[in-house]
Amino acid sequence: MNTKKLLKDQVHDIGRYLTLCGMIRRSLEMNKYVFGIDVGGTTIKCGLFSSKGEILDSWEIVTNKEDNGDHIVSDIARTIEAKCEEKGIQLSEVEGVGIGVPGPVDNNGVVKVAVNLGWTERHVKTELEEMIKVPVAVGNDANVAALGELWLGAAAGAQDAIMFTLGTGVGGGVIVDGKVVAGVHGAGGEIGHLAVVLEDGNQCNCGKKGCLETVASATGIVRETEKFLLHTAEESTLRQLDKIEAKDVFDAAKAGDAVGLKMVDQLGRYIGLAAANLAATTDPQKIIIGGGVSKAGDILIDTIVKHYQNYAFSAVRQTQFVLAELGNEAGIVGSAYLAKTL
Ligand code: ZN
Repeated sequence: MNTKKLLKDQVHDIGRYLTLCGMIRRSLEMNKYVFGIDVGGTTIKCGLFSSKGEILDSWEIVTNKEDNGDHIVSDIARTIEAKCEEKGIQLSEVEGVGIGVPGPVDNNGVVKVAVNLGWTERHVKTELEEMIKVPVAVGNDANVAALGELWLGAAAGAQDAIMFTLGTGVGGGVIVDGKVVAGVHGAGGEIGHLAVVLEDGNQCNCGKKGCLETVASATGIVRETEKFLLHTAEESTLRQLDKIEAKDVFDAAKAGDAVGLKMVDQLGRYIGLAAANLAATTDPQKIIIGGGVSKAGDILIDTIVKHYQNYAFSAVRQTQFVLAELGNEAGIVGSAYLAKTL
């Protein structure tokens, strides 16, 4: 009799266990997609990801800037709905949509201004959520790219990182505890506008003088090199070029050209100084160097590290510098990750 009861209890327990397994399985199967959207001035890059970070599809649509960019948000809604239909995905299976925008974004997903899109203040999160009934997260594009590197790129596995994006301008992202520091005005992580040249600095696009962007962007590197060549008689292969590009400066340095080496050293000093001050503020696990200028590779990293270690507070002196890995995909990857943090 007792054995029978025991067996019945066990069967009952197994039944409950199987029901529980079914519930867990269903909850794991639900909400298994995220979209990452990277809005640029000419194209909108889109990515469909699994929640685990596998990229399932990527595509682009044209940025329609007509009527002060009024159609952009609805175009994004339409392309997401179309992709879901194409792939047989229900909107209820979408965990969230992340969007990277070229402008400051506050913590409520409000874009303050995005000149390249024709936007003044725009409530992107609320607008898109009303259209597609899926949670939406919005971030600044440079910040979002940093998140991408943190999720699947050069800083994968880290929770605290700082990224410098050295391109035609200088952008970046500061990540603390896995979250981008956006700040009160959405200006958090505007690394390009750290003051590094204290006297006689070049005019920056932001209105200030001596910002990091004026000396560490591709344009800034060329301008500094041309200025130096003009004020010195020092021999350099760079003098033989009709038009100097940032890559030429690195190539000259790699070939041992004295002016090339001097300019790369100066660049490394400015970035090293900025990185040391930031590292003393947030104590990151990794500092990522990305953007077109980072294609210079080891010579750039090595020079930055040399100066960084000179300027850095002792506890953060050995912080690791790494080159970005995701290139142009950092935007959609980071936006997708942003959606996961909702
Ligand atoms: Zn500036």
